[in-house]
Formats: sequence, C-alpha cells, structure tokens
Amino acid sequence: MTGEGGAATLARLMKPGLPQYIEPLRLAESGETISGSLQLRALQRLGRWLRERDGVVEFRLEFSKDDRGVVRVKGQFSTELTVACQRCLEPLVLRIAQPIEVDLAADTIAVDEHGAGDEPGETADGPVHLASFIEDEVLLGMPMAPRHDPARCPKPAGTEASSARVSPFAVLKDYHPEKS
Ligand SMILES: [Zn+2]
Repeated sequence: MTGEGGAATLARLMKPGLPQYIEPLRLAESGETISGSLQLRALQRLGRWLRERDGVVEFRLEFSKDDRGVVRVKGQFSTELTVACQRCLEPLVLRIAQPIEVDLAADTIAVDEHGAGDEPGETADGPVHLASFIEDEVLLGMPMAPRHDPARCPKPAGTEASSARVSPFAVLKDYHPEKS
C-alpha cells in the first residue's frame, strides 16, 4: 500500500467514472498513478478478435516526466481474452499480463519518433483517449496466431484454419500422405 493519497486516487478511479480522456503531462507533473479496469465491450478494435465480450482489462499507469520534458507512462495491464484458436477455431483463453512503457513528447516530436505508426502520434499535453491507449497495449500484446497447446487442440496440426503465416517447413513436418 502506498500513502492515503494513492488509495484515495485509486478509489476514485475505480468507480464507474474512469476519465475518458487523460492529460499525461498534467498527470506527470503531479506524479499521478491511474489504475482501474475497462470493460472489454468498450474496446471496439479488440472486439473483433474476441469470442467472448465479457471481461475486463485491469491496468495501472504511472506518469512521470524527465529533464527533456518527455512524459513517461509506465505500468502494466492484465486481462483474460477468449479468442478463436487459429488451428481449430474453437475458443481459446489467453491470459495476458504485460508491462506498459510509453514515452510521450510534449510536442510534435512524438509524431516523428513514432514515424511509422498508423495513428497520429499522441503527445503528452493533448488529451489522450484512455481506453484507446490501453487497447493499443493489449493489441500489441496479443500473439499473432493464437493456438491451443497442440496436445489440447481438437484439430491435429497441419489443418490450420488460417494460413496467414505457415512456414513451408511446418507443412512438410505435418505432411502425412497415408492419412487421407
Ligand atoms: Zn485449437
């Protein structure tokens, strides 16, 4: 347990009203920590991968600022996602818990640093959509082609439902001509 202030902040933010937008620079200047949970239903981009929409992402974000004015967001998230196994398409439960570490520059430098990103760079002083920020982290933490443990998957190897990334060697390894 941290001090009473931290506990009060936590209690406030665990209520139904997590802020929709956050201002990282302001949070960093007062050294705040935000924690709480977001309903999976609220995360539209993640939703297309999910077989079950019930559940939450729990997260904690600590805001600090370095000498150059860069705002550092450090923390973690954890969640349990039910996705489709890419081999058998049956539900597969993924438990993901990962650290978060994102730097936000106070001005447009952030855009340059994230150059290749598909979204406009988020800067520290502008409002950042909290749910989208967390959703980005969850999407980054998801495996490319989630599959059951081979021993538990109802379908044998070599019958991948998605051939997005099948190595030619994997195909050779699983090739059993006498089976069919
Ligand atoms: Zn499977």
